[in-house]
Amino acid sequence: MKKVRIILALLICFTTIFSFDFIPAAAAATLQYGSSGPEVVQLQKQLASLGFYLGPTGVDGRFGPYTLEAVQGVQSASGLPIDGVVGDTTGDQIAFWSSQPAFSPYLQTDHFAPWEFKCRHCGSLGRGMSKALLLRLEALYVKLGSVPIWVTSGYRCPVHNSRLSGAAANSQHMYNTAADIQVSVAPAAVANAAETIFGDGGLGRYSSFTHVDVRGYHARW
Ligand SMILES: [Zn+2]
Ligand SMILES: [Zn+2]
Repeated sequence: MKKVRIILALLICFTTIFSFDFIPAAAAATLQYGSSGPEVVQLQKQLASLGFYLGPTGVDGRFGPYTLEAVQGVQSASGLPIDGVVGDTTGDQIAFWSSQPAFSPYLQTDHFAPWEFKCRHCGSLGRGMSKALLLRLEALYVKLGSVPIWVTSGYRCPVHNSRLSGAAANSQHMYNTAADIQVSVAPAAVANAAETIFGDGGLGRYSSFTHVDVRGYHARW
């Protein structure tokens, strides 16, 4: 019995020592695909407030495929290496994007500039593009293999929208929350890649382009 007690005491000592050694390191640890726990919940809350869609289970404390796409979107928007790992640098960039307004004519990510979204008829940018839209377009950019995405229609003033045949009367383009895009990839493949990223948004499949928007609910056509 004495031996057992000594072994137990030693075990407790070791556990204590290792805890002291490892707990601070774990607190500063990076988060990546497969991570789980309260730090992932915090990360997901930040990503959700940036406007990312985190899948049907939302903020669930599990770093899965939706969280990965969102993290990669932030990294791409900030011109960082796309490794999907959240350490200090990516954490700083998440904080940076959190400090930006939800809509602004000055929002610019690494692969999308404000001028690309100007109304094709008058050059207006309305209230400025949606941060959530730009960040999700960056996630899509990564998912498509970092090939250029051309915005063929971004903001549309009401006059322009009313003159377009086939445009919805209440189009998301009038609210700075939509983009029609062309990529040197088949539109069907673009739309398939956009399914998860725009899971709570609009996705329109056309023969020569793809419409995506961040309307806040699932819409497909
Ligand atoms: Zn216009
Ligand atoms: Zn559209």
